[in-house]
Amino acid sequence: MVEGIAAKRGIKEVTVKTSHRVILATGGFAKNQETRAQCLQQPANPAWSSVPAHDMGDAIRAGMDIEAVAPQYPTPGGVDLGDPRHDGTAKSVRQAPQEVFLHRASALEDLCDNIGVSKNGLAATMQRFNAMAHQGRDEDFDREGSSYDQYLGDTSVQPNPNLGPIKKVPFYGVKVFLGDLGTKGGHLTNENGQVLAAGQRPTPMLYTSGNATASVMGRRYRGAGETLGPTMTFACLAVDLITKSSKV
Ligand SMILES: Cc1cc2nc3c(=O)[nH]c(=O)nc-3n(C[C@H](O)[C@H](O)[C@H](O)COP(=O)(O)OP(=O)(O)OC[C@H]3O[C@@H](n4cnc5c(N)ncnc54)[C@H](O)[C@@H]3O)c2cc1C
Repeated sequence: MVEGIAAKRGIKEVTVKTSHRVILATGGFAKNQETRAQCLQQPANPAWSSVPAHDMGDAIRAGMDIEAVAPQYPTPGGVDLGDPRHDGTAKSVRQAPQEVFLHRASALEDLCDNIGVSKNGLAATMQRFNAMAHQGRDEDFDREGSSYDQYLGDTSVQPNPNLGPIKKVPFYGVKVFLGDLGTKGGHLTNENGQVLAAGQRPTPMLYTSGNATASVMGRRYRGAGETLGPTMTFACLAVDLITKSSKV
C-alpha cells in the first residue's frame, strides 16, 4: 500500500501523505549513465540527451523499491532516437562558438578541404548516393521509407521525395551528432495507468505516466506524438479513475 512520498526540498526532508493516490511522473532515465549503460546500445552518454537534467529514472526505481517489480526497459531498438532537428549540433555551437557550424563551398573539393574529409571518398559517396536517388532506393540507410516517412520529404523530388540527388552548387556541410529525446522503458501499467506488480495485479494506490512507464508502443518509435499522445491519454484515464474512486 502506498501512502505518500518522502522527498527532499532543498536539504529538508519532507513527507507528503495522500488520502487519494500517488502518480509517479518523473520521466525516463536518459540522464542516468548507469541505467543507460545497462539498457541501451553503447556508447550511451547522458550528455547526448535533450531531456530535463533530473530525468534519472527516480520513479522507476521508487516503484521497484515498493513492489520489487522489474521494469520493462527498452532494448536498444526501443530507444527514442533523436532526429536531426534537435540533436547535439546546437550544443556544439554553444560550447565552441569559434567553430564554424555550416560550411559552404562552390566546389566539392573546396568543401572537402573545409571539413577535412577525403576528396575521393566524398566524391565516391556522392556518386553512389545520387545513383540511389535516381532509382528512389536507399540501400545504405533505408531512407526510401514508408508513405508515413515520405510525408516529411520534398514532394517535388521524384521518384522518392526522401532522396534528392546532390548536384546543385553551392554545397553545404554540417557536422551531425547522434542524440536522443528520452527513454521509453519503465513500469508496466494497465489501461488506467496503475503500476502492475508481479503477476500483473495493480499496485494499490500507485499510478505512473509518461516516460516512467513501459511505452504502449513497445520497442518502436514511429514518429512525433508517439510519446505525448499516450502520456496525455493514460494520465487522463488515471486521474479520471482516481477522482471517481476517491470522490475528490
Ligand atoms: C527536443 C524534444 C522534442 C520532442 N518532440 C516530441 C514530439 O514531437 N512528440 C512527442 O510525442 N514527444 C516528443 N518528445 C518527447 C516528449 O517531450 C516526452 O516524451 C515527454 O515530455 C515525457 O513526459 P514526462 O512527463 O514523462 O517526462 P519529462 O517531460 O521528462 O518530465 C519529467 C519531469 O520530472 C522531473 N523529475 C525527475 N526526477 C524527479 C524527482 N526525483 N523529483 C522531482 N522531479 C523530478 C524532471 O526534472 C522533469 O521536469 C520530445 C522530447 C524532446 C526532448
